[in-house]
Amino acid sequence: MADGAPIEAVKTTCAYCGVGCGIVATPTGPNSATIRGDRQHPANWGKLCSKGSALGETLGLTGRLLTPFVGGRRTNWDTAMTRVAEGFAEALTHHGPDSVAFYLSGQLLTEDYYVANKLMKGFLGSGNVDTNSRLCMASAVAAHKRAFGSDTVPGTYEDLEVCDLLVLTGSNLAWCHPVIFQRIVAAKERRPGLKVVVIDPRRTSSCDIADLHLPITPGSDAALFLGLFSYLESRGYRDDPFVKDHTKGVDELAAYASTFTVEDVARRTELSEDKIRRFFRLFAQTERVVTLFSMGINQATDGTDRVNTIINCHLLTGRLGKEGMGPFSMTGQPNAMGGREVGGLANQLACHMDFEPTSIDRVQRFWNAPAVAKAPGLKAVDLFDAVHEGKIKAIWIMATNPVVSMPDADRVKDALQACPLVVVSDIAHDTDTARCADVLLPATGWGEKDGTVTNSERMISRQRAFLAPPGLARHDWWAVCELARRLGFDDSFAFESAAEIFREYTAMTAFENNGSRDLDLGALQNLSDAGYTSLDPIRWPCPVKGKHKERFFSEGDFYTEDRRARFVVPLTVKKKPKPKGFTLNTGRVRDQWHTMTRTGRAPRLNRHMPEPFAHIHPKDAEELNLKNHDLLRLSNNKGSIVVRTKTADTQEPGAVFVPMHWTRDTASNACVDTLVTPSADPFSGQPALKSSSVTVEPFNALWDGFALSLNRLSPGTDYWARVVSDRGERAEMAGLTRPENWRVFAQDLLCTEPDAQFVESNNSAGDAYRCALFISGRLTGLLITGTKPVAAAKDWLADQIGRVVPVEERFLLLSGYPPKGFLDPGPIICSCLGVGRNTIREAIKKGASNPTLIGECTGAGTNCGSCRSELRQMLEDANVTTQA
Ligand code: SF4
Repeated sequence: MADGAPIEAVKTTCAYCGVGCGIVATPTGPNSATIRGDRQHPANWGKLCSKGSALGETLGLTGRLLTPFVGGRRTNWDTAMTRVAEGFAEALTHHGPDSVAFYLSGQLLTEDYYVANKLMKGFLGSGNVDTNSRLCMASAVAAHKRAFGSDTVPGTYEDLEVCDLLVLTGSNLAWCHPVIFQRIVAAKERRPGLKVVVIDPRRTSSCDIADLHLPITPGSDAALFLGLFSYLESRGYRDDPFVKDHTKGVDELAAYASTFTVEDVARRTELSEDKIRRFFRLFAQTERVVTLFSMGINQATDGTDRVNTIINCHLLTGRLGKEGMGPFSMTGQPNAMGGREVGGLANQLACHMDFEPTSIDRVQRFWNAPAVAKAPGLKAVDLFDAVHEGKIKAIWIMATNPVVSMPDADRVKDALQACPLVVVSDIAHDTDTARCADVLLPATGWGEKDGTVTNSERMISRQRAFLAPPGLARHDWWAVCELARRLGFDDSFAFESAAEIFREYTAMTAFENNGSRDLDLGALQNLSDAGYTSLDPIRWPCPVKGKHKERFFSEGDFYTEDRRARFVVPLTVKKKPKPKGFTLNTGRVRDQWHTMTRTGRAPRLNRHMPEPFAHIHPKDAEELNLKNHDLLRLSNNKGSIVVRTKTADTQEPGAVFVPMHWTRDTASNACVDTLVTPSADPFSGQPALKSSSVTVEPFNALWDGFALSLNRLSPGTDYWARVVSDRGERAEMAGLTRPENWRVFAQDLLCTEPDAQFVESNNSAGDAYRCALFISGRLTGLLITGTKPVAAAKDWLADQIGRVVPVEERFLLLSGYPPKGFLDPGPIICSCLGVGRNTIREAIKKGASNPTLIGECTGAGTNCGSCRSELRQMLEDANVTTQA
């Protein structure tokens, strides 16, 4: 791509979640493209969710890191890599291999991961390669290995459509993996006999299709599945031949689980016995069952045990590896799977081989490596602890933002600030983590990178470049090879293309494999450059010899030494003490991704939920004297954050849900992971991101404000949150003290030109101020403040920014509402088609009595469908009985 962008449509894969949707991108300029779903891609058959559809809006160069920096000064690659190589060499020489580390990301491509893993574990002699995927699915990996002897997802997406019972547990699939959710919705519409059970303390959008919702008490998942196991075992649902021929340990588990009676499970889960029996009966009597789980299961101190309790039930009934059956781990990131394939977790060596003597020897010979690591490295939480303790002297962080996303995030920030060498590769110049970097390296981003990713169903797809890298941006694999060369490993890192790396990686999966390892991509090891370029999506395994299999384990043949699966008796299931205060649950919202460094660039995605918030049950809110839209403070011994109150009866009492997306750059103080205690699962090292204790109290601001500007907004007030809008930025803010002079405050905030014309109003008490700014008749800024959360037609106002406003209409703007006859569309509900809440309300008023009719009137919900549950909620709020 270095010679310029192609003008043809290019098939690639989405940058975001583990569904791995195929995309067709057609460049429309040097930094822009139109995006549509790839109708031939087997993950999505042409569909995209709101985030995928908006990818084209995220390609501009605003805020992009375009050159290397050393010590905050712009420089060239040679200087930057000299600094990196010197820092790593110094640490290695004086402190040994375990004083260096790479912290990678599920956003990287498999080829990036492969070379990073090879360098650290084969040539620098340390296992210290970990990844943000540790936060997402490490418990699934550990549980797979305990049960199957390998990290294998046995089934495929098709199983989710053809099963007769789908159990969704610890997964808000509707918001976090929308295209797969919509595939299930469509399957259920075609075949209403497909039953769906949702297990989740919250009533999320995924409950929209639930025949049964089990709002269990947080943390009681393992007890529920142990109870299910006991029920199945005691009522004769054991698949005797399968268990006898292909498994080990059933009797020990049966003895342990026998105390988990329905009554006991009801006590532990706080579910009614009737609901529990309904679920158990349904599972027992349905042959084709898939249990899909995700972060709600994995992100816990008993995450690995929880996953094993799920797998146990499928092993007992022999329901795995066959069409429409099996446990199914849904990964969070686009290439979390590719990362774990190459070995990009600290407790894996390479290509599904572990740190045991035979594998270490094999890896050494394959790489001809001088210093293969002999023991696992540090997992994410321990790794950043080691940085904090000064044991890690040089760390390279690629494509991730741990200063926001790690538990106890402030401690991670302190650790990095004190580390002698922090290298950060990113596409964004100014992230919370980039601010801690000694060396900043400009990476190529989605649309410029070339390589492969693997989705949750083992499907390898190509990410293809369709834009030329801007500025001095380089591929991550190239930068790693550059470090390797400077440390003297030229021959082993002489890769000149992603295709060369892919060939070596696939050859390694096949090396001395002969069916002993699940991951075998041998059939791809001789792929030509042209073959790599045109590679269609392909699901592994793809061995040189032998039959290609879609699914694993229908006939047993597990990857333990005796080829038998293991029933696992959980060790961490205890009746948990009720936390003091509120349980803090963290997670995602529909239209944002991770720390918003990409989705935050798409104005229409920002219009769905433009402010950080906490969902809290109305009764809890009332007891705390909190009203909807008030600000609240969440605190514990790690710190405190301030976010907006959203009362929701979908939220379980005693708990709050806060999204993970807001950073120190997008809000004054809403980085929720600063409050998360860094306790982790003992087997997987995955942190518990959903169960910290917090106290909740009102944040008694003296004034609240809303601002719009063509320029960047930097409120600097006690509370603020800002997002990019179609033209400029919008911000919410609040203060504990009132500015001395509102006009001066507005001038500073809205970055006015000296010749800007102010139209303003001030109430007599001086506690409510409004102004609009015009330059040559164009509205360039607006500020509305008052003593309560600002009520105004904010989305309509945002659309007025940059417009030339006739003189007679200017003062009217200060009312905050459109003139008669104009409709404020309201916050976006349907991001794909840009349909706002008020437009939908109007349609409901006019008689649209179900989501389909709303779609016909407004277009909402007719593309990806992710907003259909919100449409249903709106119908419910309007007391409309939904008509099918
Ligand atoms: Fe991308 Fe959405 Fe598909 Fe996930 S579901 S891969 S975010 S388009």
